[in-house]
Amino acid sequence: MVTTVILSMLCVHLLCFSVMFLLISTRLNGKKMGMEVFALGNLLLGLAYILQLLGGPANWGMMSIVNHTMTLCAPVAYVLGALRFFDRPTAVWRPLLMLAVLYTALQVTVQFTLGSEARHALLAASCTLLFLGMAVGVLYARQNVARDLRVEMVVFAILIGGICALNAVKFVMILQGGLAALDMGSGFQKVFYLYMSFLGTVLPPCAVWLVLRRLTDELRTMAAHDPLTQLLNRRGLVEGLDAHFRSRNAGPAYLLIVDIDHFKQINDSHGHQVGDLVLCHVAQVLKATARKGDLACRLGGEEFVLVGLNTDRTGALQLAERARAAIEQSEVPGTTPNQPIRCTATIGVSEAFTSAQALDEYMQQADSALYRGKTSGRNRVESALA
Ligand code: GH3
Ligand code: MG
Ligand code: MG
Repeated sequence: MVTTVILSMLCVHLLCFSVMFLLISTRLNGKKMGMEVFALGNLLLGLAYILQLLGGPANWGMMSIVNHTMTLCAPVAYVLGALRFFDRPTAVWRPLLMLAVLYTALQVTVQFTLGSEARHALLAASCTLLFLGMAVGVLYARQNVARDLRVEMVVFAILIGGICALNAVKFVMILQGGLAALDMGSGFQKVFYLYMSFLGTVLPPCAVWLVLRRLTDELRTMAAHDPLTQLLNRRGLVEGLDAHFRSRNAGPAYLLIVDIDHFKQINDSHGHQVGDLVLCHVAQVLKATARKGDLACRLGGEEFVLVGLNTDRTGALQLAERARAAIEQSEVPGTTPNQPIRCTATIGVSEAFTSAQALDEYMQQADSALYRGKTSGRNRVESALA
């Protein structure tokens, strides 16, 4: 009786969260983060448990066959959903349908050759292996695709490990005690479904939390970057400077304003789209020229900022000269080969500064140096100290 109540509650939980995952996925235009597949997994598991409630004691019949197939397909759907969550595009319906057909055929074969006990043992063994693979996969993901979710992955591995162990125990109990081990009134089934109910309560909010984390991380990244060049924007620059000056042993920073020369002419003679290509090209050149840890930013229009961190005046001037020469020497890829587009840039370099609050002041300094560079013929580096 108690187990039946637990199982009924679990069904309600699974189906409610299935609807919730589906609703969340409809709000995630384009990138659904696997939510629609998690919804399918919950639906399959919820329906499997409903069949279990309707079917009564473990027996042989169409309902039981379908129940076992759905019980096995549900965690596979969670795996496919997780792959999508981690940006690994994967088919869903075909692998699930293939698994369903193969496992149903296997069940019928086992039922007719070895009997009901063996078919139930087969499900417990399959689930043990599947959950073991999932726990190992989750721990492995912690070291690559889910590096930002290390703690969450360990918690998932422990929870999945629990269900793996319970299925292993169930397998042994079926081998030793036959179908009596699956009696809904038994202590083991009570523990089994209590644990499943615990998972059904804990895991769906965890999945929602992961989606929320991804969304807020993406929003933060979007808010700090320029959509055209993917360099930092002004907000990202201030955040980067803040982070630098907050760190211990933070050295001084030098600000370089890089302004493409006669960019309006490029736009006028080649069109706005080619102008955008030039902007992206210059952004790449600046990124490649800057040292690791330096900040590269597009202020707007054809104006960029490089911030040399932990350097001195000579280092900052060398960085500016390297950037100027690299822009002058490179051709813009993606334009017609017989009509290469080249551009130059003028760079104004500020004095050293040691706080993010001083950004505006040093920006003006670099801007004045830039202005001098423009009036003295362009394609040159001018320093505020000159
Ligand atoms: P100078 O050498 O003095 O810097 O001259 P300039 O032509 O580079 O500078 P000016 O400020 O006269 O022109 C900048 C042009 O940049 C004008 C504007 O239409 C263009 N622009 C601004 N933002 C974008 C953009 O996002 N894409 C493209 N293609 N053009 C842009
Ligand atoms: Mg310009
Ligand atoms: Mg300008």
